[in-house]
Amino acid sequence: MIGIIPILFLIYFSIIIFKEKSKRVKLIGDYVEQIDQSANIGELISSLGTERRFSYQYIIKKDDYDKVLNQRLKTDSIISVLQNSHELALANFTQYTFLDKLAETRSQIDTSKKYTSKEVIQYYTDAIFRLNTINSSSPPSNIFLEPFYQDLIAQNILSEMITFLGIIRTNIYNALYTREYMEETLFGTLGLYKVYNTYETEFLLKASPASVKLYNNEKKSEALKSTISYIDHLFTTLKFDSSYNADQWLQVSTEGMYILKKQKLALWKSVDSKIKNIYYKENKSKNKTLLLLLITILFVIGLVAYLVAHIKNLLRELKLAARKISKGDTGLKLNDMPGGVIGSLAKSILQIDKNNLLLEEAANQIGKGNFNVTVKPRGEQDLLGISINKMKQNLREFTAQKDEIQKETEALVYKRDEFFSIASHELKTPVTSLKAYTQLLLMEASASGDNNHKKMLEKMDIQINKLTSLITDLLDTSKLQNGQLVYNVRSFEFNELASEIIEEIQLTSPEHNLILKANANIKINADRERIGQVISNLLINAIKYASNSKNIIVEITQQNDKLICSVQDFGNGILSEEQDRIFDRFYRISGKNLNTYPGLGLGLFISKEIIEKHQGKIWLQSEYGKGSIFYFELPKK
Ligand code: ADP
Repeated sequence: MIGIIPILFLIYFSIIIFKEKSKRVKLIGDYVEQIDQSANIGELISSLGTERRFSYQYIIKKDDYDKVLNQRLKTDSIISVLQNSHELALANFTQYTFLDKLAETRSQIDTSKKYTSKEVIQYYTDAIFRLNTINSSSPPSNIFLEPFYQDLIAQNILSEMITFLGIIRTNIYNALYTREYMEETLFGTLGLYKVYNTYETEFLLKASPASVKLYNNEKKSEALKSTISYIDHLFTTLKFDSSYNADQWLQVSTEGMYILKKQKLALWKSVDSKIKNIYYKENKSKNKTLLLLLITILFVIGLVAYLVAHIKNLLRELKLAARKISKGDTGLKLNDMPGGVIGSLAKSILQIDKNNLLLEEAANQIGKGNFNVTVKPRGEQDLLGISINKMKQNLREFTAQKDEIQKETEALVYKRDEFFSIASHELKTPVTSLKAYTQLLLMEASASGDNNHKKMLEKMDIQINKLTSLITDLLDTSKLQNGQLVYNVRSFEFNELASEIIEEIQLTSPEHNLILKANANIKINADRERIGQVISNLLINAIKYASNSKNIIVEITQQNDKLICSVQDFGNGILSEEQDRIFDRFYRISGKNLNTYPGLGLGLFISKEIIEKHQGKIWLQSEYGKGSIFYFELPKK
């Protein structure tokens, strides 16, 4: 959009320049026209002069009518040229130069009705005078006419001189011809003679030295010299002598006039060709200017379009780069960026990218625990740099604290494990003998039929069993920890093992209904006792955490080369956020669990270890409040 403004300006200025140029050409063209028409008026004056003489001769002698007609044709053709001219100064010129009466005058001459020879002379002389006044206004001097202005003026003055000389000589001719009122005629023409002389003075003052020189030379020529000196003589004495008769005078003065006309024509031709030359050159330069302006406008349009497209591309590239940065991207590339505002914008974007890269790298290193990396904030306002430095410090302190805590924790864990290992070991022997004695006492009570004792001893036995199982779990965990757990792998029927364990547990939990679902017998290679321990752990948990529901389903299926066993209860269920953690060592779900349900949080940990040692896996599906299904999978070998 902005690109259009300079183009509009250029077009606007081009129009102004072109208009100025056109005005100049028009002005010169008008001068050409004016000079042409001025020459035509000169011609008309000359033709009317001749027509006046021929008409006069015709009225007097009734002779040479052909000459009159011929001259009239010439006059008319010049009038029609002038009437067709576009020159404003000549509009309707016939109406104020007596020429509107030309036709009437001519018919009077032809019929010799009303007009006397004198009246005819007067009519033509009036018309010539009036026409002469139109022509006598010289064009103003200006820069275009300057090169030939002197010749233009000289030509104009010569024209006046010729007109006046023409009238003077005709009057003299008339006087010589009629030989009537001769002195009066001279007297009447004296004024014209004086005016003629002032024009000559003006010519000598205004014409170029070359024209003056030529004029002076011509004046010395026989023809002009005779004419002028005769006129001078007549007007000095105001009397006619016998030097010439009418016809002789006509011949002499025609030759004299011809000299002046010749010089005038030469001047006019030179002026005409010069101004036409200037006009031609100006016109050509106007066309050239137009062409040049068009080329310039096209060039500027092209240039502006190219620049706008180029800048658009650059800005688009910068926009994409900025968008990438805003999305957190790094490693930008901005090629071929120019200087100036766009260049510095590109540099700033690249600098931001570089800083981001440095900060990213620093944050990475810090994240990996390399606190030696240096981050130099770019200034007081570089909050990011300052924050990363602070973060580095905090992390360093935190890591140091964490290491310390970890060390302490590890030491505590080690002590705990050591304690459990020793304690379980120490407890195992007395509990084993307790169990043996209880069994002995039970056998005695059964034999003696002492039912009271028997019941008490049976409860004792159950508690001893629980204690044994806790101690076993602790011992197993300790062995797992130290890698001392030995697996006794052999082939066995999985279903058989499962039914054995179900049967055993069903006896101790008559309030639950343990259901086994199994299609076929599946043989696997594993440590029978340890796998039994897993099934037993899952069943005991199901009973423990589903006290309100009755059914517990054990299902055994095979999939390809795998065995899958699941234990499903419809009890408490487990929250999804706890599900991952229940396989951790000593992990028990806090809250109600801890006090309501006895346990150490080792059963699932040991089960997972055992299953994974057999290249299997263990997992669960559970919904809080609805129950759980624990699965384990073992390879079928
Ligand atoms: P313990 O039963 O001795 O606490 P376990 O390792 O066997 O330890 O189980 C860990 C925890 O998992 C239990 O404390 C209990 O909260 C949860 N849990 C295990 N089995 C079930 C189950 N069938 N239903 C609900 N919760 C269970």
